[in-house]
Amino acid sequence: MASGNAIRGSRVGAGPMGEAERGDSAPRLRISFWCSNGHETQPSFASDAQIPETWDCPRCGFPAGKDEENPPDPPRTEPYKTHLAYVRERRSDEDGEAILAEALAKLRGEI
Ligand SMILES: [Zn+2]
Repeated sequence: MASGNAIRGSRVGAGPMGEAERGDSAPRLRISFWCSNGHETQPSFASDAQIPETWDCPRCGFPAGKDEENPPDPPRTEPYKTHLAYVRERRSDEDGEAILAEALAKLRGEI
């Protein structure tokens, strides 16, 4: 390796090796995000872009954050429970059973 440098002795004054060429006018940053499932994703951003706090994990769709130790909580969407609780508040048990029977009938394909 040293002999290679000796042969190409004309480049005195060139930067230390490893200095990348700067032809790219828009350098990009790769930022790592981790979701709560431990998936790492590395979207790249323009160096002047705003880096978002969270990024959607491309593998599971959970939000991913920049702190590997502390990924954001997965979204808790349980609309059914909430809806059922809401219905229960408004209706008597009898109505609730009728709704349940109807739902079961739908499941069986009777309606
Ligand atoms: Zn994930």
